[in-house]
Amino acid sequence: MLQDSSPEDSFLRDSFGREFHYLRLSVTDVCNFRCTYCLPDGYQGRPDAAFLSLDEIRRVAAAFAATGTGKVRITGGEPSVRADLTEIIAAVKATPGIRTVALTTNGYRLAERIDDWAAAGLDALNLSIDSLDPAVFAAITGHSRLRDLLAGLDRALALGIPRVKVNAVLLRGQNDDQIDRFLDWLRGMPITLRFIELMQTGDNAEFFRRNHVSGEELRRRLLASGWSPVLRSRDAGPAQEFHHPDYQGRIGLIQPYGKDFCATCNRLRVSALGRLHLCLFSEQGIDLRHLLRADEQREELIAFLRARLADKKVSHFLQDGFSGGTRHLAMIGG
Ligand code: SAM
Ligand code: SF4
Repeated sequence: MLQDSSPEDSFLRDSFGREFHYLRLSVTDVCNFRCTYCLPDGYQGRPDAAFLSLDEIRRVAAAFAATGTGKVRITGGEPSVRADLTEIIAAVKATPGIRTVALTTNGYRLAERIDDWAAAGLDALNLSIDSLDPAVFAAITGHSRLRDLLAGLDRALALGIPRVKVNAVLLRGQNDDQIDRFLDWLRGMPITLRFIELMQTGDNAEFFRRNHVSGEELRRRLLASGWSPVLRSRDAGPAQEFHHPDYQGRIGLIQPYGKDFCATCNRLRVSALGRLHLCLFSEQGIDLRHLLRADEQREELIAFLRARLADKKVSHFLQDGFSGGTRHLAMIGG
């Protein structure tokens, strides 16, 4: 007698037994910031490039959801440069099986748009703030909108967005001496502040050599001052989180060069040009666009995804200085 198939039977799996429940979907390469580690000369691509349409985004979300993906993070470039971002959030949220719709943004339009995004169903927000010092923030990002970003963050909290996180890339001599200021801020801020180790990409090798700071020292310092590690959930991101009874906020630490970072990989990426990236640092990505023309192609798309997963490698090999075809993270969304 045939047994009922369990939801686990449909999961996307690779040849190392890792399951993929989490999709990072880039909706544009374009960005209006010039972060020193990402796009120091500003966006150089073609802003008129044909990024995924709303229908294509719906089809990607539906195919991944059918294989057990429950969480989609919308990213970029800067996703809020797309005029239809609210519709994108609503479309992904309306996909049966998708429980969590998250957004990563530089916050440029946060204060003015967060009400719409929340109404469209946004469940989780990651806002990038590399420094709480306005002058340092401007020096890193090329924009002096820190005050607006913080107002947008307050509004997101007031609206009750369930999960709010702030990302800060650790940079030698720029913000690694401002940890205390960040920690003070967290005493009364019910958010998770994630420190990300700078990653080497094709374009930033020299910058990386000068500015990379290991998160190890910060990890030791947190453990020595009463912060405790939090258990990870299945669709968790790559951060190890810490909590402390005296702080409303939590700390997350993302150490891509850490031992076994790739062992817990649970996410796949689709770029704004419709290419599947098995790893943040894979080569050119695998074109999916020919399978996104009609809803009827869903089964074919799912079969294609399953077959391609066999090619996923065990590690990103970043520790060997390998950054694949990734010139900067704006290309596929970090
Ligand atoms: N523009 C949006 C933003 O900045 O939040 C979304 C895209 S951005 C590529 C996503 C995240 O990647 C940001 O938090 C950014 O700070 C981080 N990031 C970009 N380049 C990085 C690098 N080389 N190493 C580590 N993090 C990086
Ligand atoms: Fe733009 Fe985000 Fe890259 Fe900064 S990190 S340049 S905001 S894509």
